[in-house]
Amino acid sequence: MTKIDLKNFSLNELEQFLSGKGKERFRATQIFKWMYQFGALSFDEMTNLSKDLRAELQATAYISSMDHSAVEVGTDGTRKYLFTLEDGDSVESVLIPDEGRNTLCISTQVGCAMKCEFCLTGTFKFRRNLSTAEIINQICAVKREFEVRNIVFMGMGEPLQNLDNVIRSIEIMLEGNGLHLSNRRITVSTCGLVPEMAELGSRVTCNLAVSLNATTDELRDRMMPINRKYPLEELLRGCREFPLPSRRKLTFEYVMIGGVNDSLEDAKRLLKLTSDIPNKVNLIPFNEHDGCEFRSPTREAVDAFHKYLIDRHVTVITRDSRGGDISAACGQLKGKLEKNSLLPVDQGDA
Ligand code: SAH
Repeated sequence: MTKIDLKNFSLNELEQFLSGKGKERFRATQIFKWMYQFGALSFDEMTNLSKDLRAELQATAYISSMDHSAVEVGTDGTRKYLFTLEDGDSVESVLIPDEGRNTLCISTQVGCAMKCEFCLTGTFKFRRNLSTAEIINQICAVKREFEVRNIVFMGMGEPLQNLDNVIRSIEIMLEGNGLHLSNRRITVSTCGLVPEMAELGSRVTCNLAVSLNATTDELRDRMMPINRKYPLEELLRGCREFPLPSRRKLTFEYVMIGGVNDSLEDAKRLLKLTSDIPNKVNLIPFNEHDGCEFRSPTREAVDAFHKYLIDRHVTVITRDSRGGDISAACGQLKGKLEKNSLLPVDQGDA
């Protein structure tokens, strides 16, 4: 009989699992606390459970964990973790330190099927969705060493293509007996799967970031094929309707590519498209990578774009390329996807 990984259960599902075995539901709360607050990896440690229950669990279930197989530390303190999965694939997570308010950027898929023209992950074939346990274990692993306060789903993959596992992982993050994070500190980033945005918002409360990246359908169709399915007007309607946590704004991510989408005309259109949505804009200067023709924007173009929006009372953050020296910056995560193209991790890999 194959054992069941308890890290794939929400608290609700664990309660059902236990009550199916004739156990009290509150045992689920105890087990959750052991797994997520004390980092227990075996049932032996769970001293408030009876010996019998522990033995029964031992026979039918297990608690998975992941250890990073490599970590690179950037000069700015950014840490890029490589996790090798059971089937040999791997994914990356990035810890961005900020005195007591560390942010962990996590992955949801091995590879990505969205094929955005500018993204490194998109140049590799989509392999598979991560399980709930594989999503949540990225956090559990880093939490053993560092406090993690904010979670951003901005690593490899398109979170809304793995909706059920992403939602279940968010439930575990929000659960008071689980990772006990605030819904104001969890942000899901999407390239714009409109129906799934609505479903996410109806099933769980968290922040949403939308990778806009272009202000005309013509350009966005080319840069992000998903736009041919859900063009700008539909996407922005989905944004308007998304139920954010109270007092929060939606984030528009805007990757600035030199000579492609970095003019003041683009800034002007961006303002017009988003002006009726409470939002902040994250400007991300494009990170160059091999095999991609696109170039980073000039400093002047970024500054002018930023100033145009600020002067019109938009909240703008230009993301410094954190983790740049270790290829941990946006869109540069790729795990160990192509065996032959992989350099040893300590030499950098992009
Ligand atoms: N699939 C999700 C999350 C992963 S990408 C999404 O599309 O939002 C996280 C962010 O990195 C996105 O905003 C994406 O547009 C950006 N990005 C991808 N490649 C990049 C690159 N080479 N330089 C800068 N940002 C990039």
